[in-house]
Amino acid sequence: MEILSIPIEKVKGVGAKRASALKDVEILTLGDLLYYLPRRYLDRTQILPMARAPIGQEVTLIGEVRQTRFIPGSRPRFVMVVADETDDITCTFFQGGRYLQRNFAVGDELAISGKVDLFQGRRQMVHPEYEFIRGEERLHTGVVVPLYTTSADMKERGLRSRGFRRLISEALDAFAERIEDDLPAALRQRLGLAELGASLRQVHFPASLAEAERARQRLAFGELFAFQLRLARRRKKNREQADGIAFAPSEKLVPALWDSLPFAPTRAQLRVVAEIAAQMQRPQVMNRLVQGDVGSGKTLVGLCAMLTAVENGYQAAMMAPTEILAEQHFFNIQALVEPLGLTVVFLKGAQRKALREELLTAIESGVAHIAVGTHALIQEQVQFARLGLAVIDEQHRFGVVQRGALYKKGAKPDLLVMTATPIPRTLALTLYGELDVSIIDELPPGRKPIRTALRGEDRRAAIFEFAGDQVRQGRQVYVVYPLIEESEKADYKSAVEAYDELRHGPLAEFAVALLHGRMAAEEKAAVMEDFKQNRIQVLVCTTVVEVGVDVPNATVMIIEHAERFGLAQLHQLRGRVGRGGEQSFCILISYAHAGAELADSHERLQTMERTQDGFEIAEKDLQLRGPGEFFGVRQAGMPTFKAADLVADGALLQSAREEAMRIVDSE
Ligand code: ADP
Ligand code: MG
Repeated sequence: MEILSIPIEKVKGVGAKRASALKDVEILTLGDLLYYLPRRYLDRTQILPMARAPIGQEVTLIGEVRQTRFIPGSRPRFVMVVADETDDITCTFFQGGRYLQRNFAVGDELAISGKVDLFQGRRQMVHPEYEFIRGEERLHTGVVVPLYTTSADMKERGLRSRGFRRLISEALDAFAERIEDDLPAALRQRLGLAELGASLRQVHFPASLAEAERARQRLAFGELFAFQLRLARRRKKNREQADGIAFAPSEKLVPALWDSLPFAPTRAQLRVVAEIAAQMQRPQVMNRLVQGDVGSGKTLVGLCAMLTAVENGYQAAMMAPTEILAEQHFFNIQALVEPLGLTVVFLKGAQRKALREELLTAIESGVAHIAVGTHALIQEQVQFARLGLAVIDEQHRFGVVQRGALYKKGAKPDLLVMTATPIPRTLALTLYGELDVSIIDELPPGRKPIRTALRGEDRRAAIFEFAGDQVRQGRQVYVVYPLIEESEKADYKSAVEAYDELRHGPLAEFAVALLHGRMAAEEKAAVMEDFKQNRIQVLVCTTVVEVGVDVPNATVMIIEHAERFGLAQLHQLRGRVGRGGEQSFCILISYAHAGAELADSHERLQTMERTQDGFEIAEKDLQLRGPGEFFGVRQAGMPTFKAADLVADGALLQSAREEAMRIVDSE
């Protein structure tokens, strides 16, 4: 057995109780243990005397606890004075005070790190990192000490940072020699990378911070390489399997479609349509992602692919994540292709039985050339006569399983997935490494940039007055509220409440309607249709309008509680306006309170004011939230790495990918 896979119980120093504490933090094997990397390091080679600790900088200091005190009151806090021979410093904690009071005693020797500031003329650190220093460690000046995240249970089992350090150190002594390397020796030598065992030791017990980072990068490269190797092999296998459909290029339907439109395709649309057509002609199954910012015209690109399939005697299907979006696609596509003599059907959740039977028959007999729908398309009863192409719109809303289910409705159909969620390059390479990617990097001409403004709630009245002016000029307005979970007790206005307030107050003279996810589907469709026809002028809604909705006459997007939305989501919402020739506006109303919350949310929201480039916004979002949050529940199948950081390690990922491809190509 590979040495890193041996169970954690087999490691010296780990009994049943420790094993159970370690399992809670997902340490099940020796490998998990050695890849449990320090959260940070205390660089004791750089320790300063307190008297010289510069204000405003991050430093590490060592001293003895002289005084501890819990101060109750409106801002309860725990305060502790730590001193060395030169001076002292006050450490202040606003959280966990009662625990901390039990944790520290006068006389304890500590290393503390954090930013030094001045409070009432004295040096202070707020919420410093701390580490107890005992016995022989005190003598070990001039070392870099690793600090680990430890759970309460681990602490109870003697696995605070210190105990955990010993565990890792002993495990390294016992096993490091026998660890099989994760990289081919030739590759390691060519790139000048250290051996895995040595790097694991250095990442835990480095001689300097620079050495620690070098070791981490070496481990990260190994992880990324292994992952990219798997992807490259899968891609190669797909390439070698020529059992898909080889479509002939469309000579009638696609040219006829473009001829019927009042506008010409953009260069980017043409290029992507050509990329797709070229791949559809090959006998391998197509697995392609089309990324294009909101409003870049993905629907037409998908439609061209569908028409190619249809011209070849196959059926095509397009699945969208919401009923509103699916219905919109259906009406658009129907209007475009019925004149070409094609039949389109629309399948959704709740449909009359008789109608449903009729639609299913049309799909099964092949009478329907194109089927548009929601998840209803992947239900068991749906059987296609000859499905040749499956298109999935806004694919990030679907899981891998649903994508697969649509694919299985045909015999090796081609697959095209479309998304408007711009994905930073590093993530795209990770998530979609096995897909081919086309990017529509151009918007149709004549779109005016959307004017975006971030405002505080105190400006609300003026904002709705402005919205009213726009409506008087014939335009339409969205007012979006955050979604309220059933379980959540909202401390802010919901769409429902706001709807009542707005239509009786500032927007009383207009036709205002409400749209949210819990309304019946029929009701939602009716409201959308009225909004489309400008019978409704102001649509108060939740994020149900987030993806895809296309009403070019709407020019104002007001987002209440903008601080509660992610950047990617705000970008999607803003994409609902700016779709026609008129100047559009997006107003973000923030209710963030003072302090960190305000600073935090403003940094995010100002990105929206600054740019309209979806990729830039996505990069920022990723930076601020990290890959886990960035995708949240929306994206299944995201691999997790222990040493690699998808935000910071873009260059490593790129290099790992190239090396993996080189190896697979020569296999
Ligand atoms: P998205 O990429 O966000 O899905 P859509 O496909 O909904 O974008 O297209 C947005 C709008 O732009 C639609 O009203 C569509 O008709 C229009 N459109 C698409 N392509 C072009 C083009 N080449 N020139 C002008 N308008 C276009
Ligand atoms: Mg779309």
